[in-house]
Amino acid sequence: MTGITVAQFMAAAGSRAMAMGDLNGNRVFINPAMFLNNPDVAWNSATFLHELIDNVTGKLDTTLQGNLFGLGGVNPFNTANITQKIKDDCFKN
Ligand SMILES: [Zn+2]
Repeated sequence: MTGITVAQFMAAAGSRAMAMGDLNGNRVFINPAMFLNNPDVAWNSATFLHELIDNVTGKLDTTLQGNLFGLGGVNPFNTANITQKIKDDCFKN
């Protein structure tokens, strides 16, 4: 998406956007309202790892969803399934 700032995107997305990572970059932007009110440390950790995977691989979330779940798991409007998979596989509550 072009033409708006990350802050504007986060404000527009509200609770649907927890974080964003640069593709092939090294920045991760968080939505502080989502993190400050979320006591699920494993989820928050998985969210950061999700964004770091975006950084390192440069792949769009829809590509990652296809790699992880096949075409049936691709939803550009909800990428929480990527974070959930990382949480389930990499972090314990
Ligand atoms: Zn992502």
